[in-house]
Amino acid sequence: MELFYKSTRGDGNKVTASQAILQGLAEDGGLFAPEHIPMLDKSIEELSNMDYKQIAYEVMKLFLTDFSKEEILDCIEKAYDEKFDTNIIAPLVKVDDVYFLELFHGSTIAFKDMALSILPHLLTTSAKKNNIKNEIVILTATSGDTGKAALAGFADVEGTSIIVFYPKDGVSLVQELQMVTQKGDNAKVIGIKGNFDDAQTGVKNIFGDKELKEKMSLAGYQFSSANSINIGRLVPQIVYYVYTYASLLKNKEITNGEKINVIVPTGNFGNILAAYYAKCMGIPINKLVCASNENKVLVDFFNTGIYDRNREFILTSSPSMDILISSNLERLIYILTGQSEQKTSELMNSLSSNGKYEITEEMKVLLEDFVGYYANEDEISEVIKKTYNETNYVMDTHTAVAASVYFKYISKTKDNTKSVIASTASPYKFARSVMTAIDDQYASKEDFDLINDLNKISEVEIPNAIKEILDAKVIHDTVVETNEMKKAVEKILNV
Ligand SMILES: *Cc1c(COP(=O)(O)O)cnc(C)c1O
Repeated sequence: MELFYKSTRGDGNKVTASQAILQGLAEDGGLFAPEHIPMLDKSIEELSNMDYKQIAYEVMKLFLTDFSKEEILDCIEKAYDEKFDTNIIAPLVKVDDVYFLELFHGSTIAFKDMALSILPHLLTTSAKKNNIKNEIVILTATSGDTGKAALAGFADVEGTSIIVFYPKDGVSLVQELQMVTQKGDNAKVIGIKGNFDDAQTGVKNIFGDKELKEKMSLAGYQFSSANSINIGRLVPQIVYYVYTYASLLKNKEITNGEKINVIVPTGNFGNILAAYYAKCMGIPINKLVCASNENKVLVDFFNTGIYDRNREFILTSSPSMDILISSNLERLIYILTGQSEQKTSELMNSLSSNGKYEITEEMKVLLEDFVGYYANEDEISEVIKKTYNETNYVMDTHTAVAASVYFKYISKTKDNTKSVIASTASPYKFARSVMTAIDDQYASKEDFDLINDLNKISEVEIPNAIKEILDAKVIHDTVVETNEMKKAVEKILNV
């Protein structure tokens, strides 16, 4: 049965999966959402005998119904290959009583690789299916990790080019070096004098600019998005939650049907939404625990039903979660309104004009699958240090937000459901914060020395992604004001 997608703010118009992937964001500013979330058609027992790629197929075939079997398998083969440093792709590591789902074994050592290693293939396949002759220009705003993962995925992919905007002072040294040293004739990286929300808003405005769209079309270009608003990012992220449950069952860590909790360090709400979709598809998940850093707009939302971005934007040691407008929440809101485009539009209009909205009592009841907690900077450092001292396991600052929240959650609720923490980045990506958390004597050291120190204390090999940037040349050094983003794009494309 064919599954169609509709804009969360649209007029009910339906598009196919490949069209939704190509467009990224709907023209009315809404996000594409599936008409319904399909149920898995294989039993968990069957899934527990499959490897990552096989499970990827079982999940993706249900969402990408206008792709042929060969097309989906081809995309999967090209994505989950030796770019990952383990053929398990997403290993589960048990530390004491909790499982860390390590999503950082791809080429840029953050969880964004899980989806961005396949998105370029989904997109070029979608272009072919829809007879698109234009060059596809990927426009991306990044809080640090999406940028590099998208650059790595799209660099030198024929028929595409990519432009990445990042907050000049809002990313870690490793994150910045990874991006500004990116090779590839079709790749451009631009710093902006603003934060991630400014970058994301700027990109959304460029997408919505009709006049620019026409100029682009005359010149043979069209935009698409590699941000997690693209359904082609969300769908591949569901896979690892299904895979995790299947692996736990296979390894006899749980019995069939036993529920698990999932704790997700959250920014734009893409990763945790994928876990929610997995639950809707039939994976026995008890609570979806939304973990925030001090930018805790989502935690407040889950506690009060009020989403209010009118607050100070705080730069933290988990920069990929420094976000006040969590775009993917709109897809959850859409479900909570009973898939009402009108109600969703009203709430989102209120967000853009007043910076806030409140959901109804009825909608709040439907939020019971979720709970939200946050961790402050001291708590983040503390859990990194304590876990290292007690178990030798070293986690990055984003994962630490989730770990800290996990301990808070169980001490508050005494819930003894088995729990999986989504581990979203390698500690090497945030070596300074991680090492100074473990011992503040490291504060006086140079960043690159800290990488060697981390190697010594963790006995985890330095990833290639880090070795690569040690002596790479800086290629991209443009920095613009937030109101110059459109001009920068026009200049690059010469339109
Ligand atoms: C992007 C990112 C997050 C947040 O994920 P969302 O899907 O935006 O909620 C968390 N941790 C790391 C390391 C990330 O790169």
